[in-house]
Amino acid sequence: MNPKINQLTDDYKCCKRCIGRGIYSEIEKNIGFTNYNELHDSIKNKTVDHDECEICMGLIDNSLQVIDRLFPALNKLEFKKFLVGVKLPGNIDNELLYTKYGLQVLSVKQTVANEFGIRIKDKFECEIVKEDPDITVIIDLQKKTRYDIQIKSLYFLGKYQKLVRGIPQTKWPCSGCKGRGCFECENTGQQYKFTVEGIVSEPFKKLAVSNFSSFHGAGREDIDALMLGTGRPFVLEIKNPAQRSFDFTDAINSINNTGKVRVSDVRICDKSYIKLIKSSSPDASKVYHATVTLSKSANEDELNNLDMLGNQTICLKQRTPQRVSHRRADLIRDKKIFSYRIIEIIDEVSFILEIHAQGGAYIKEFISGDNGRTIPSISEFMNCEATCTALDVIKVDDKGIF
Ligand SMILES: [Zn+2]
Ligand SMILES: [Zn+2]
Repeated sequence: MNPKINQLTDDYKCCKRCIGRGIYSEIEKNIGFTNYNELHDSIKNKTVDHDECEICMGLIDNSLQVIDRLFPALNKLEFKKFLVGVKLPGNIDNELLYTKYGLQVLSVKQTVANEFGIRIKDKFECEIVKEDPDITVIIDLQKKTRYDIQIKSLYFLGKYQKLVRGIPQTKWPCSGCKGRGCFECENTGQQYKFTVEGIVSEPFKKLAVSNFSSFHGAGREDIDALMLGTGRPFVLEIKNPAQRSFDFTDAINSINNTGKVRVSDVRICDKSYIKLIKSSSPDASKVYHATVTLSKSANEDELNNLDMLGNQTICLKQRTPQRVSHRRADLIRDKKIFSYRIIEIIDEVSFILEIHAQGGAYIKEFISGDNGRTIPSISEFMNCEATCTALDVIKVDDKGIF
């Protein structure tokens, strides 16, 4: 018979669960209220119904009503590791009572978390963890008894090639309706029917039974540029996946069969890779193939001379190009062209350059000079107008991510 419990129940109306919590640490390290049976009849006679409890206000018992709604929702999800979080109204501060009576207490929060934890664990044969859960079940008792489920995203690391021009990397809202949907965009709200993001994410979303994804590329190429060679690293984030473990070979095959985008080296990764590829991209060096068209024909000597100039590093001063000046600050950037060479002569006015450049260098402007905003330029070297008529990215340095 515990005199402290006796004193508490003399002073306050207590429910079974609250008495059980109070003797938690004194009888056994188990969930509180199961210890209730160990109590002396004199205390049991003093317990009140949950709704009358002056300690928990009936919250512990009421919280369990949510199970009828929560379990069918959990039934649709695949998870092995979970965590329960509890939100309480601000006026549940009666834990103080226990301090006053010298009882070590399992808090209301922890009691509710344990009640749910044990039930979920038994029903769904899964494990309670403190870190890195597949799902977090939030029991919110602040106003009405509600629940929420936070599902950890899935992350896939890979490299993509873009085999056709005119496809942006990520979704792009329709310029007519700003994404609301209009006649011209067939109510999709999208400016482009196809995006690398869309093509890569769709089959993965289907497998994961998810509606949301996010695509993180290590930089991006222009819409009209191809991405060839070894491909560009990306992380695909699948949000709120109902399924977590699946074979994604078929997803890769269906992407690669589109003829528009190919992916390779796809593997599961964790969230930290988003930061990694984002931080690697600004200065990761790139190799391009650029088709150059001149305003006058060039003879062999002139082309040899141009080729020679590409043997050494060129330090560029690039003022923000006119074509992006509406969305980038107007600055002069120092960028390096490490080298370039002519790899193919198409006719007397056009040829293909292979250019090895520092990340962030504007290649089209290195060719044209952008009306004197980029110095020096191919245009300057050739003493005529030079235009980049096609641009392909051949290699993005992945800085050892793979
Ligand atoms: Zn209570
Ligand atoms: Zn539209």
